[in-house]
Amino acid sequence: MRKKYINKNNIHQEKNKKIDNINKIIKKNIINLIPYKSARLLYKDNDNKNLIALNANESSIISYFSLNKKIFNKYPEPQPKKLIVLYSKYVNLNVKNILVTRGADEGIDLVMRTFCNQKNDKILFCPPTYDMYRVTAQILDIKYITINSNNINWELNLNKIKENLNNVKIIYICNPNNPTGNYINKNIIIELLELTKNTTMIVIDEAYIEFCIDQTFTYLINKYHNLIILRTLSKAFALAGIRCGFLLTNEYIINTLLKVIAPYPISEPSTDIAIQALNLKNLIIMKNNVQTIINNKKWLVKNLYNCRCVKYIFNSSTNFILVKFYNSDYIFKKLNKKKIIIRNQNNQKNLNNCLRITIGTIFECKKLFFELQQLS
Ligand SMILES: *Cc1c(COP(=O)(O)O)cnc(C)c1O
Repeated sequence: MRKKYINKNNIHQEKNKKIDNINKIIKKNIINLIPYKSARLLYKDNDNKNLIALNANESSIISYFSLNKKIFNKYPEPQPKKLIVLYSKYVNLNVKNILVTRGADEGIDLVMRTFCNQKNDKILFCPPTYDMYRVTAQILDIKYITINSNNINWELNLNKIKENLNNVKIIYICNPNNPTGNYINKNIIIELLELTKNTTMIVIDEAYIEFCIDQTFTYLINKYHNLIILRTLSKAFALAGIRCGFLLTNEYIINTLLKVIAPYPISEPSTDIAIQALNLKNLIIMKNNVQTIINNKKWLVKNLYNCRCVKYIFNSSTNFILVKFYNSDYIFKKLNKKKIIIRNQNNQKNLNNCLRITIGTIFECKKLFFELQQLS
């Protein structure tokens, strides 16, 4: 017995030693990295048919696609022309202003790798916001500054940003913002674009812009040469599964980013489906779906205020709402038991007792309301 115990202990020590040695080879910033917690990783049972997954801001309105293309032995076009032509019509820009990316997330990464060196350069963003700006900076070992948004209306703190622009190469602005749901005051962003036009890139992440399309900054791309806009098909277009996004900026920056981007970032099946999603008929369907989700949101907000567990609902211009509860941990766990999965924001700065809820179908909204009423 004793011998066996020692043996086990030895094996354990041996294993630890191996890990120690590997850790000496892995970059320090990766060892210390707190990775992005995707909704899929947080809830592994996501494919369960009975599950109501309101935790990833995906669209709950399903469209059916089938591939036109049947053979895939050749590499795809590096930047698929037909897709770019269709997107340029959709955003009313020149084809030279458009880069196709593997989701908006690749755009976030690509800009950082192109503009920042590890030694002195910094990025800046304004929490509470999308976590990938921090995660990408940490992976690339680029320093970041955070300037918290005002926690009453989530407006950017322009004065504080101004004081902290030294060595800042990129400012990431999520507009409308995830997870708070608000859009940012247009004049504040324009002031920031003016102020930084010779020093800093302003990246506006418009992942949810279809839910408040009049807030887009695309019309300023030819005016401000430090403006980059990120777009995606993952949210309003209901195509999170194909990983397709777009980066909009001036031609010179597009050409510079083309030097850095992977040779074949977009797979042919993705391009095939993205092209279908951007035809006139499907654009109308997308816009109708956006309106349906906005209507469902109105219904849900109105009814949630009748739940005693709800303290406050922040104004939202997106396909999700941020809700402050009296006891969010209790609500989160109870909904989980009922197979309704939402996103916990309780540990984010200024978001204690807050949960983020994706707007689902009207059936899903009603089910959520029913369950929350029971918890009141
Ligand atoms: C979902 C999301 C993204 C990621 O978009 P993909 O195109 O799926 O990579 C980027 N930014 C924000 C703010 C998001 O919420």
